[in-house]
Amino acid sequence: MKVVLTSFSKCFSTMHKLGIAGWTSISVARWMPKNMNMQVIQPFAPQAYGRKLTGFHSVDEYYELYMNTLLSRRQEVMRHIENLIQNFGNSTPVLCCWCTIEQQRRKGYNTIMCHTIPLAWILRQHGLEPLFDDDRIQYGIDYDDVIKTSYNSA
Ligand SMILES: [Zn+2]
Repeated sequence: MKVVLTSFSKCFSTMHKLGIAGWTSISVARWMPKNMNMQVIQPFAPQAYGRKLTGFHSVDEYYELYMNTLLSRRQEVMRHIENLIQNFGNSTPVLCCWCTIEQQRRKGYNTIMCHTIPLAWILRQHGLEPLFDDDRIQYGIDYDDVIKTSYNSA
């Protein structure tokens, strides 16, 4: 089963542009844009005890920290993965966070270090097929070679 990983803005511009039916947008961020009312999968958000992840000095450390937080709530995470598999037979869940290359460039970076990338790795371990937006494919800092397929070419 396919799972799209993208940003709030790309999710809505793509759905609007392509009129994609059967996509269900879900937030995996700590908070979502105003006026958006979508389901949230809190245990997939990059946080520990409700707070933003801090204390990392490199992308590797950030990804490791995120993976450790998933591990620390393994049962909840597994329950949500099973929900995705069981409840989305006919539609594609689109997991959204804030990261876009425009947003990163405003901060002075030309890469995307995003928790949706290691999250995709976990989802793939459980038999899901992660698809990324072009920003993540082109600029995302990979986690164990997980970035492979764009939803545009899938
Ligand atoms: Zn992100």
